[in-house]
Amino acid sequence: MAIASLQGADYPEIREEIAKLCQAFPDPYWRALDREMGYPAEFVSALGSAGYLAALIPEEYGGSGLPLSAAAAILEEVQRAGCNGSACHAQMYIMGALLRHGSEEQKRQYLPRIASGDLRLQAFGVTEPTSGTDTGALKTVAVRQGDKYIVNGQKIWTSRAEYSDLMLLLARTTPREETARGIDGLSIFILDMNAARAAGGLTIRPIRTMMNHSTTEVFFDNVEIPAENLIGEEGKGFRYILSGMNAERILIAAECIGDAKWFIERSRAYASERQLFGRPIGQNQGVQFPIAKAYAQMRAAELMVHEAARLFEEGEQCGEQANIAKMLAADASWAAAEAAVQTHGGFGFAEEYDVERKFRETRLYQVAPISTNMILSYISEHVLGLPRSY
Ligand SMILES: Cc1cc2nc3c(=O)[nH]c(=O)nc-3n(C[C@H](O)[C@H](O)[C@H](O)COP(=O)(O)OP(=O)(O)OC[C@H]3O[C@@H](n4cnc5c(N)ncnc54)[C@H](O)[C@@H]3O)c2cc1C
Repeated sequence: MAIASLQGADYPEIREEIAKLCQAFPDPYWRALDREMGYPAEFVSALGSAGYLAALIPEEYGGSGLPLSAAAAILEEVQRAGCNGSACHAQMYIMGALLRHGSEEQKRQYLPRIASGDLRLQAFGVTEPTSGTDTGALKTVAVRQGDKYIVNGQKIWTSRAEYSDLMLLLARTTPREETARGIDGLSIFILDMNAARAAGGLTIRPIRTMMNHSTTEVFFDNVEIPAENLIGEEGKGFRYILSGMNAERILIAAECIGDAKWFIERSRAYASERQLFGRPIGQNQGVQFPIAKAYAQMRAAELMVHEAARLFEEGEQCGEQANIAKMLAADASWAAAEAAVQTHGGFGFAEEYDVERKFRETRLYQVAPISTNMILSYISEHVLGLPRSY
């Protein structure tokens, strides 16, 4: 029995196409990659060549010019099918900084090639080991020397860096002591990672994590970036990054909704099939209720994701809704993951059921790209006007 509300009502054709595409990448494909921490190159290439990773790039730059809600539907369906969009989701939102703040020349240089899949813009270099959430404290510096910048420092958790041609890099261009706030004096650049690697100043080291996420630490040793690769104005980088955060939050929230639907569907099927004491385990309310509760949580979060996307598309302020959507959706996927492990009993821990893999994958969204605490802090201080903690 198919449950209509687990399918998503908007963009039915796109959802159907994604579901079809994902069928070529069934559970064993992801299981094998998970075991060896491999990158799903074939999956990313299939999504890219079908144009889905260019959904948000305007048509004049070779993309499909779709609204954010369509991109959200794409990522939700990817996750609902049991696939893992984290291998390429960043391409959808990172390029927003280039689109909104880049020069016409930069857009013409990069966007069509990103849209066609010739160039991968998958790496986003913000987080550093000593600054973490406190972005204003980051230490990587880009010092202008003539027609180039020289970059020194280190990033951590730079996901997909090994599989990306370009990185959107946030670095300090004005010394901290010369700025009023830490978040001032930061700038963003398009870094050609292939050129930097060839020149020898860029070192990328994979970090083994609890799930397969192709994340790395990146070291910059006198890496040169042509001055023309600065996006927008020097010193305004943090503001540019912030302007893309709402889109990022909404898209990640949509992925969490997809994960929640996957867990709920798997739990529902297993609870209906598994016979113990002469009846399906799903006949016990102790088994039903956590699944039902996760479903209710998912439906509420889904409404907030749609509301945030609607406001975003109408050009309205949506910081509150985007942040709440991300938090509720991450909570819903986590509740659904918990219910799925419990419903599957011992088999919830067995690799071949994929529940434990998705459980590990969805746990990330309580922490990254923004942790639940920071969302609560945003709601407390920016929405409710409570005293600022820092
Ligand atoms: C798998 C993975 C992939 C990632 N990919 C990327 C990427 O591609 N690019 C990138 O730039 N970053 C990436 N990140 C980094 C991610 O955004 C950060 O991990 C996240 O923002 C938290 O920062 P942190 O790990 O430094 O934790 P910290 O900043 O050290 O915080 C630790 C804990 O303390 C809490 N905390 C900190 N300050 C406060 C406060 N004032 N009030 C209440 N609680 C607080 C945090 O919420 C967190 O729970 C990734 C992380 C992971 C794990």
